[in-house]
Amino acid sequence: MIKVLVRDITSKGVAVDQTIPKESIGLSDEEIDLRSPISVKAHVTKAGDMILAETTVTADFGFFCSRCLEEFHSVESHDYDFNFELTPTTEYIDIGEEIRQEMILSNPARILCKDDCKGICAKCGTNLNITQCTCT
Ligand SMILES: [Zn+2]
Ligand SMILES: [Zn+2]
Repeated sequence: MIKVLVRDITSKGVAVDQTIPKESIGLSDEEIDLRSPISVKAHVTKAGDMILAETTVTADFGFFCSRCLEEFHSVESHDYDFNFELTPTTEYIDIGEEIRQEMILSNPARILCKDDCKGICAKCGTNLNITQCTCT
């Protein structure tokens, strides 16, 4: 949970800057492969009966290349805009739950280790990024 109290949101908004383990927003290893804690920066503002949280999430993501099947990881940042409805009884908003859902949804299923990944040879299984096989 990343709690932002409504009473803390001034006319200039409030800044959130936290580094959290993925477990603290309910992400499991099955849902997402992260090699670092999650850095969360957000600017939270109030507009009428809405709360807007402009959020940047940075973490070291683990992947498997869908072409050569090698494991790799890369640090990536994602920007999200979250809207919350502000009711008279709203005491706080939870950015953490929104981040959890977005990170699961936006985690790409198919990704390449590099744009020009040569993949593996269909005949002998050699990783053609590392060596050239003799198949024709
Ligand atoms: Zn690859
Ligand atoms: Zn081959």
